[in-house]
Amino acid sequence: MKWEGNRESENVEDRRGEGGGGFGGLPIGGRSVGIGTIVVALLAGWIFGINPLTLLSMFAGGGEAPIVQQQQRAPAPPANDEAARFVSVVLADTEDVWTPIFQQAGSTYRQPRLVLFRGVTPTACGTGQSAMGPFYCPGDQKVYIDLGFFDTLKRELGAPGEFAQAYVIAHEVGHHVQNQLGITGKVDSMRGRISQADSNALSVRVELQADCFAGVWANKAQNARQILEQGDVESAMNAAAKIGDDALQRSAGRAVVPDSFTHGTSAQRQRWFTTGLKSGSMKACDTFNTRSL
Ligand SMILES: [Zn+2]
Repeated sequence: MKWEGNRESENVEDRRGEGGGGFGGLPIGGRSVGIGTIVVALLAGWIFGINPLTLLSMFAGGGEAPIVQQQQRAPAPPANDEAARFVSVVLADTEDVWTPIFQQAGSTYRQPRLVLFRGVTPTACGTGQSAMGPFYCPGDQKVYIDLGFFDTLKRELGAPGEFAQAYVIAHEVGHHVQNQLGITGKVDSMRGRISQADSNALSVRVELQADCFAGVWANKAQNARQILEQGDVESAMNAAAKIGDDALQRSAGRAVVPDSFTHGTSAQRQRWFTTGLKSGSMKACDTFNTRSL
């Protein structure tokens, strides 16, 4: 995949220095503040009734800087971090694809943020964990990725390749697109009224549509920026196959139980990614009104 030198997104939050046991200090006001300072700030805040973050910001030399914003904005990844840079370029590419698509439909694409984390991290959807794989939280409109997943994808699931990783990111962004379109809300409101098996079947349609949207992204990105190299489509198709529910159940040594599927079979995931890739059209991605998935 050709991506070096392409635009990077400003929507990446790097929390990798925060979680997983290491406690080197919290990034506040662009500088690192030690744990001692934090304790002092908490104590002082408690004693004097001052917001500890205000104090921390003062200690960090932030002065009157807007504290709330600093809290939300984790630092961007360092420039020499290739894996993070790759994610940032792919995210930027999805922004460049979805913004005009929404514009043409008379609407506005609100860009999602992407959080890099290690181990565990708080989200509006509860505690995010690496073991869950990459995921999208509609509550805070953020995509969460532990870059370790790409090693799992390569080594344990047998799906190497940059474009395979890009497909995974584009799939998560596809969930954000669904959220923007109101699909996520509609589906969630239906869940309470249907059986578990029907709810799973609905999840499959949601997931396959996200695969199709990932394909739409790939189509547009290729037309605009010629990102694809030989073998790239195959590497994404291979990844789609390796993370199909049937493949995952088989590799976990379990019997394949279609009723428990929430993502679709390998063949379905490949088919819907291809549908998006070939057509470049969101209309082709109506997995909810198709008879055959
Ligand atoms: Zn998904």
